[in-house]
Amino acid sequence: MLALFRITAIRKTVLCLSAAAMLWGESHPEAAAAAGRSLSAVSDEAASGKENISANRKELYDQMSAATGIAWFRFAAIDQYERTIAKKKSSAEVQTKPRLTGISIPAPVWCGPLNPDQGDQAQESISFFGGFGKDGSGDGLADPENDADVLYSMARHLMKYGDSSSDFNIGVWEYYHNGRATQRIAQFAKLYEHFGRLDLSGSAFPLPVGKIYSYRSTWGTGRSWGGARIHEGTDLFTPHGMTVRSTCFGIVETKGWNRYGGWRIGIRDIENRYHYYAHLAGFEKSLSRGDIVAPGQTIGWVGSSGYGKPGTQGKFPPHLHYGIYRDRGITEWAFDPYPLLKQWENQEYRALKKKK
Ligand SMILES: [Zn+2]
Repeated sequence: MLALFRITAIRKTVLCLSAAAMLWGESHPEAAAAAGRSLSAVSDEAASGKENISANRKELYDQMSAATGIAWFRFAAIDQYERTIAKKKSSAEVQTKPRLTGISIPAPVWCGPLNPDQGDQAQESISFFGGFGKDGSGDGLADPENDADVLYSMARHLMKYGDSSSDFNIGVWEYYHNGRATQRIAQFAKLYEHFGRLDLSGSAFPLPVGKIYSYRSTWGTGRSWGGARIHEGTDLFTPHGMTVRSTCFGIVETKGWNRYGGWRIGIRDIENRYHYYAHLAGFEKSLSRGDIVAPGQTIGWVGSSGYGKPGTQGKFPPHLHYGIYRDRGITEWAFDPYPLLKQWENQEYRALKKKK
């Protein structure tokens, strides 16, 4: 009898997680404007004591890790992924209880899809209906707005799969049923584990500041070197062979030849932004896909590769094409990198002056 009940419970969990996949699909379509909005959200957060929030989050991950055995950086990665794809709530929707984590579990998943009470916080009935929700705070309620309850419920799900990073990836896949989410969360977990901290917000200009280069804002103008697609990035003109540096803490997601971009490299940062460097003469040899980079680290050299079969060079003057894309959960939107380039360049100039 007990065994039978278990099988039923597992079936219900599967149903419930498939429902999650459908819900994620519906709840995260984004308008183009959202990319700009969330940038301002990030700076708002920075202004209002970002360090404090980070410290409190880290403490919560550590506590939950001690209680469940799930590594803190795995909680951090899921939390960060959800934060980077979350729709900004309208003022009417703003939660009454401010939350430390950004993980939002839809009611049918939390309570169970067939649970007639979609606001259910009673553990017994939630588990009867195959819901995801558990009580992690010890107050007797499974509350989807309670950070400890949410993290604990996530931990209980992940614990079914095992401890290795590939077990973790399977657990994440079984929750989201979304390959992109699974890839991002694995990347974030690797970054957090490698650096051992939540703050990975450093930056650098992609070329060595003080060397010869020129660039201007060309957002949305026609692609200079053939084709009619809008120009999704900034061209930095500089002599062939100039060092190209990572602008962020991140993980190498793409590396190789692309017909238009030539030898190009793509780096994912912890804000779920994809930094794209194209037309390189070559790559830093030690770098492979999945490797971790820091701001200012050499990733390759400026060239004029692209617009032809692998190895084609010299169809245009040497320059670095630099673009940034933000993953919104379903699609990636390019945004104008020019203001950030100016900001990073100025920061490095100021730092250089201080040293002198
Ligand atoms: Zn370009």
